[in-house]
Amino acid sequence: MKDAIENLRDVLSRQREACLASPYPELSQRRRTLREVREALSRYQDQLAAAMSDDFGRRSEFECKTLDVMFPALQIDHALANLRRWMKPQRRRTDLLFRTNIAKVVYQPKGVVGVIAAWNFPIVEAMGPMIMALAAGNRVMIKMSEFSPRSTAVLREMLADIFPEDQVAVFGGGVEVAQAFASLPFDHIVFTGSPGVGKEIMRAASANLTPVTLELGGKSPAIVAPSASIAAAARSIAHGKAFNAGQACVAPDYALVPRDRIDAFVAAAVSAFQRMVPDPVHDPEYTCIASDRHAKRVHELLDDARAKGATVTSCGTGNGWRVVPMQIVTNVTPDMRIMQEELFNPILPVVACDSLDEGIRYITARPRPLALYYYGTDAGEIKRLEQDVHAGGMTVNDWAWHVFQSDLPFGGTGNSGIGSWRGPEGFRALSHGKSVLRMKPWFPIGLFRPPYGTRVQQLVSTLFLGHADPALNIPCSAGNEPRRYGSTAQDTTREST
Ligand code: NAD
Repeated sequence: MKDAIENLRDVLSRQREACLASPYPELSQRRRTLREVREALSRYQDQLAAAMSDDFGRRSEFECKTLDVMFPALQIDHALANLRRWMKPQRRRTDLLFRTNIAKVVYQPKGVVGVIAAWNFPIVEAMGPMIMALAAGNRVMIKMSEFSPRSTAVLREMLADIFPEDQVAVFGGGVEVAQAFASLPFDHIVFTGSPGVGKEIMRAASANLTPVTLELGGKSPAIVAPSASIAAAARSIAHGKAFNAGQACVAPDYALVPRDRIDAFVAAAVSAFQRMVPDPVHDPEYTCIASDRHAKRVHELLDDARAKGATVTSCGTGNGWRVVPMQIVTNVTPDMRIMQEELFNPILPVVACDSLDEGIRYITARPRPLALYYYGTDAGEIKRLEQDVHAGGMTVNDWAWHVFQSDLPFGGTGNSGIGSWRGPEGFRALSHGKSVLRMKPWFPIGLFRPPYGTRVQQLVSTLFLGHADPALNIPCSAGNEPRRYGSTAQDTTREST
């Protein structure tokens, strides 16, 4: 343990030295780096998918390859296409007073970025921030989750193939190592995980004044409006709970459904799930609950809901432990744990909701969610949700797809996170936007230096501020002598007599 922590410090200091030796990787170098990562993803796709499946007990190969492998590859393509523009210093306007000088923002690499990943999409949560950090010219240390040991091993091997440790390094280990990692004086930390641990990360980072991007979770609502097609909404929401067995930060957490359509919605969701996953126990493409600890929680949540009067409709036969088909829960009450905790599993509570106003009241009375879903066709309702309800992001008439757009930032708000590592916003978050003002040698800046009160200074004050309250105004003396602010007209008269 002591050795592991010593090793973290050692790698950080070597990465820092490397930053000093090569503080601003050029565009061509960054592009070369990104292409190497993309090729490695292709080469290692089978090993990565197999490792993730081992970590989960069983995980859909298709989902491993599309989300954890293809998604970072698409992110690289997007970065390659946009990097020249992102890196280009941005000309800005000077204020009127400083016209003729040159103002710009230069995007410098921050230095060493620490990345802490969760277990549910271990490769994308490690590689997504890494890709953007490398695009921004940084070096990267990654701490993987204790629940992803095999994925960690393959990722480490893959990245060691292309990077020296002073450019990218991957670490495993338990929570103690993660705590030590979070307290290192990085130049930026990107954390993916729960809001509770996010607070600990922020506390640890504050000791070093390290800026943080926190990709957290929360209860993401799915509103099924009266104008929605029940079949289409149920199909989409069932997919959200089938994908990775609901173990996704943007999975619809619960559905708000008009009271008189709940029965139809439940029937449609059961049948949609069964069409996608007819035999959960034997389907190699249906993902298990990731660990015994997480499975125990799923069953405890269902027991708690049943004990408090809920009806649970299972969408298939599980194995009683880590293979859990979607569980639809109706007759829910606020005191149930399923309505108090982020689910992060295939349980779907259905809450009766008869109008958009009622839905908005329900959502805004709770912590701000990571994602918001609306099913329906009413343009006015969509606009209200866009403008009035805080959520990290929003997809209309489906779930999660806003997350898969490389040009959109993805991140939470309030309890669901701070900042984003994706899109142009991500590049900026992992760069330092340095303001640079180049003064022309002939610019008469001396006119703004003391002693104060010259005609030009008074003219400038009057031009930009107008005449001050006469009681405070300092008139120009007959002899055009500069007056010091703070002295009154009376003082001046006395002085001159
Ligand atoms: P978690 O918060 O328990 O752990 C996340 C990471 O933090 C792990 O690597 C863990 O080792 C580390 N960690 C745990 N305790 C720590 C501490 N005290 N100090 C430093 N590091 C510590 O979360 P999890 O169970 O791995 O993942 C589930 C959560 O992550 C859910 O809330 C989910 O919504 C969220 N999540 C968010 C996103 C997103 O992009 N917004 C993506 C995936 C998961």
